[in-house]
Amino acid sequence: MDVSLLLDGLNDKQREAVAAPLGNYLVLAGAGSGKTRVLVHRIAWLMGIEQASPYSIMSVTFTNKAAAEMRGRINDLMHGSLSGMWNGTFHGLCHRMLRAHYLDAGLPEDFNILDSDDQMRLLRRLIKAQNLDEKQWPARQAAWYINGKKDEGLRPQHIDTFNDPIEQTWLRVYHAYQEACDRAGMVDFAELLLRSFELLQRSKHIREHYQARFKHILVDEFQDTNNIQFAWLRLMAGPDCHVMIVGDDDQSIYGWRGAKVENIQRFLNDFKDAKSIFLEQNYRSTGNILKAANGLIANNNERMGKNLWTEGTEGELISVYSAYNELDEARFVVGKIREWQDQGGALADTAMLYRSNAQSRVLEEALIQAGMPYRIYGGMRFFERQEIKDALSYLRLIANRHDDASFERVVNTPARGLGERTLETIRLAARDRGATMWQASVALLEEQVLAGRAANSLRRFIELVNALEDDTRELPLFQQTDEVIRNSGLRAMYEQEKGEKAQARIENLEELVTATRQFEVPEEAEDMSPLSAFLSHAALEAGEGQADDFEDAVQLMTMHSAKGLEFPMVFMVGVEEGMFPSSRTTEEVGRLEEERRLCYVGMTRAMQKLYITYAEMRRLYGKDNYHKPSRFIREIPEEHIEEVRMKAKVSRPASSGRFSQTQVNENFNQTGFSLGQRVLHPKFGEGTIINFEGSGAQSRVQVAFNGEGIKWLVTQFAKLEPM
Ligand code: ATP
Ligand code: MG
Repeated sequence: MDVSLLLDGLNDKQREAVAAPLGNYLVLAGAGSGKTRVLVHRIAWLMGIEQASPYSIMSVTFTNKAAAEMRGRINDLMHGSLSGMWNGTFHGLCHRMLRAHYLDAGLPEDFNILDSDDQMRLLRRLIKAQNLDEKQWPARQAAWYINGKKDEGLRPQHIDTFNDPIEQTWLRVYHAYQEACDRAGMVDFAELLLRSFELLQRSKHIREHYQARFKHILVDEFQDTNNIQFAWLRLMAGPDCHVMIVGDDDQSIYGWRGAKVENIQRFLNDFKDAKSIFLEQNYRSTGNILKAANGLIANNNERMGKNLWTEGTEGELISVYSAYNELDEARFVVGKIREWQDQGGALADTAMLYRSNAQSRVLEEALIQAGMPYRIYGGMRFFERQEIKDALSYLRLIANRHDDASFERVVNTPARGLGERTLETIRLAARDRGATMWQASVALLEEQVLAGRAANSLRRFIELVNALEDDTRELPLFQQTDEVIRNSGLRAMYEQEKGEKAQARIENLEELVTATRQFEVPEEAEDMSPLSAFLSHAALEAGEGQADDFEDAVQLMTMHSAKGLEFPMVFMVGVEEGMFPSSRTTEEVGRLEEERRLCYVGMTRAMQKLYITYAEMRRLYGKDNYHKPSRFIREIPEEHIEEVRMKAKVSRPASSGRFSQTQVNENFNQTGFSLGQRVLHPKFGEGTIINFEGSGAQSRVQVAFNGEGIKWLVTQFAKLEPM
């Protein structure tokens, strides 16, 4: 094997890591400094120079996609066979191990993996079976409790509740849940890790087998490992094993999920003669992007401390765009991507990063309108998300009681005690009578075929849907949607549940209200009710499907899922105080620092060009919110930023929702101004009219000024001049 081939394209520090004598190493380095590249070359080095068999190597990555990429890159370097090498995520590798030793692990051969939705459903059943009130003891919180304990390596018998009655209850649920899983041969995500860890701990011969086998373990993104993963690694790595971990404390972004950045320090303590190697040269980003990111992260106190430099060009400044609302923001981003494409750039080289999933909707709609293919990385399209489908199902039933799919979806969501048996009775009756499920239900109730609890629950559901329609018939679509989300109990159901995911679901439901508020019935659908028109719009958008794998497509993802990736052009959107950092995090220093690290991760994805955008007004849950630009923007050294001026053209004014368009236009005609018009103010300078309310002497206009932000002004006194 030619040594130079393996060290080509590496700097001195990277070479030092790649060609280091066998031993334990920590490679600690900032974003884009080539940590992942070092791991890839190290594996090739181990095989090519140290004559390590692929069978003796295990490499751990954060996502399956990263694992596949790593394999591809090693293959390119080696042209040799990698068969026998273990390469995957912690979960994937533990699964593999449990499959190989299912008997020792006490599992049936065909054990199933329980995904988080399955887990929730099972928990809901068990909580009910324990006669606990679901409102007080939500399944989501049980899952959070149980997964957290498992991540700490704790079984029910290990837990001391200190007579805390609340924890005692959760512990009972944990017990029941574990029994149910064990009986059915089901394993949830946290269980994969814990059980595999226990197997290694308990079974000397299995432990020795793996310790004898794996002479080399390599771990990427180590800063985001949790306790059980760390403990698992320690058992896998025998006395003759060589472990290389790479990570960046500044990119630790999963603390909220139990990841422990302290594991980096623990590695140095626990692994024999572990040495640190620091990489400081960045190869990914331009000077401006890098210095901006360095400047931002310097605001954190909890740091191991390192600095990054680049030999690359300074590149363009970071463009900060102040949009007047989220539609304008989406339009701006799509416009920039269009320019990029016109200059020959590939769509796949552009990425939109946002803090929370709900933000994708406006962006998705702008992309669809522009006819640009896009892909949502590590997530689902807006209209395909569970909670959105739930809410849409209620709306569909309101519009059409005979929609069986919607009926099935929500007849017992939120749970109202309708079991599978009752549903089967309804299905059969519907089939026999050639009726819809709704019709069959009504008939079964009338004929008193169904009785007791089932009948009561079903009747309540029928009445609920009827009431939802009666009570909201007269309301504008967005209020109707809002009421339906509340009165159906969906919102409360998700509010009961704890955790980041539940929060995201509520945000998505709020976003659905915004979507209905922004929705304008298209001309071809003017004969439909706004509700029906919206429902077909949603169905069509959901049906668009992801861009297929080979199609050139814009990449959309949360900042969390962008970890480890890079793109020539990156847009970070919604960088507003309250959105990012999210309002839930600004109270606690620790959480705020984690948000800042997330911002650092986002910025350092960009190779050539970074745009940061924020909206001065964002419509959330049918309400207008005025946000300040994020503190993170202020924390970036000014010399790396340029403000992009607002364009004179406003193609679609934000309709206020309080006035019909005709009314607005009439009122406007009296004032001599129009929406989207450019105006000059003696003090605030140039601006664009974006909204209007009231009439006569009370009339006010909302103007987005170029430098002075957005202001409401009384038209009569404002001394505005048309431009
Ligand atoms: P992150 O912290 O975001 O995971 P990283 O430290 O893993 O980043 P890599 O993804 O390995 O960084 O490398 C960043 C970019 O720099 C990649 O495009 C990689 O190919 C390139 N790169 C790394 N080292 C060198 C080098 N010595 N010469 C040229 N390019 C390099
Ligand atoms: Mg990396």
